[in-house]
Amino acid sequence: MGGTEPARPSGPLIVQKFGGSSLASVDHMRRVAARIAADRAAGRRLVVVVSAMGDTTDDLLALLRRLASRPSAREVDMLLSTGEQASAALLASALTAIGCPATSLTGWQAGITTDGVHRKASIRAVAAARISREVGAGRVVVVAGFQGLGPGGEITTLGRGGSDTTAVALAAALGADGCEIYSDVDGVYTADPRVVPEARRIPRISYEEMMEMARLGAQVLQIRAVECGLVHGVTIVARSTFAPGPGTEIAGVAAVEDRVVARGVAHDRDVAKLALCGVPDRPGVAHRLFAALADAQVNVDMIIQSQSRAGRNDIAFTVAGEDLERAEETARGAASDLQAESVLAEPGYGKVSLVGAGMASHPGVAAAMFAALAEAGINIEMISTSEIKISCLVRGDRLEQAVRAVHAKFRLEAGSA
Ligand code: ASP
Ligand code: MG
Repeated sequence: MGGTEPARPSGPLIVQKFGGSSLASVDHMRRVAARIAADRAAGRRLVVVVSAMGDTTDDLLALLRRLASRPSAREVDMLLSTGEQASAALLASALTAIGCPATSLTGWQAGITTDGVHRKASIRAVAAARISREVGAGRVVVVAGFQGLGPGGEITTLGRGGSDTTAVALAAALGADGCEIYSDVDGVYTADPRVVPEARRIPRISYEEMMEMARLGAQVLQIRAVECGLVHGVTIVARSTFAPGPGTEIAGVAAVEDRVVARGVAHDRDVAKLALCGVPDRPGVAHRLFAALADAQVNVDMIIQSQSRAGRNDIAFTVAGEDLERAEETARGAASDLQAESVLAEPGYGKVSLVGAGMASHPGVAAAMFAALAEAGINIEMISTSEIKISCLVRGDRLEQAVRAVHAKFRLEAGSA
């Protein structure tokens, strides 16, 4: 670097995002700064989006809860947005200190406005003039992720993991040549490598498949970021900050060679099952139950209604484990209104899902997945499907075995076709 650095890089414009674990300490910050400076020296024009350092977001939340058991969402946003601002100022300073011109910007200085919903705001618009000006002047622009200004001038945050979405939205607004998401994992895997040691990195995955994987439990990228990539046609690359490697490219279907039957296996550990048994079989019953659950802010996942016998049937459904208490209370209320015979509520389930855009056009995929579970002696409690995924609910203590069985059945291991 040193004197050979370009005063004003004129190469490709790249948005890079660094996650909290890549910025966890002074040493991490220095290493990230060195990496960015080297990229700039190679001619790239850079907009860098940062998360809060390490566990800062969780630490700030814990601190707040000690002072207020039910803090307002507005104050939560006020507080959490400072984590990303601190990161941005620190990284910009670290860059300047090694001779790489840089400026930090808050989300609002970067022109990001949102719909104003505290703690889970959606980005409405990006007015990127300020960023463009800074980049044009030869500076690396470091933007605080996860934040934007709502309609009333209120500070809002974008939901956990929201800096990913900041990066993709900026890449779209700037018409950037690339969007790179750096973290401590080197891409998206065919299954969680902690559960399936043979899992391998997926070189390319479509937006739709990635959204399903994220929704079903894979935690590499915020779903909204992938959605934003899909809507604006931004190719996203997820890769490791400190380990070299190509990572995983998330792009449109056309860029993905084949629509494979099985792209990956996702899992979700903390699932609860509820059932209303012996509900009268008449119009409006399901509506009454699920409207009450929606009013109680409970997200319902899988739903099964059994065939009617003697004018009654059973309605079973699943919710996140943390919502069980609220869901059970609501279900019991609905059950007495509807004169159901009984209510079941059980924690301790898990969901294993196979994702692949090619499964819609290949018969027998569901059968093969069920065979894998049967051969492992694992009972399937519920099943749900979409065009590109099959999910099975199993007992929580068999979940990891189920993930391995399905992964092996579809030959997703390294070295397999
Ligand atoms: N710091 C926020 C979080 O931990 C946002 C982010 O990291 O993207 O969720
Ligand atoms: Mg974070």
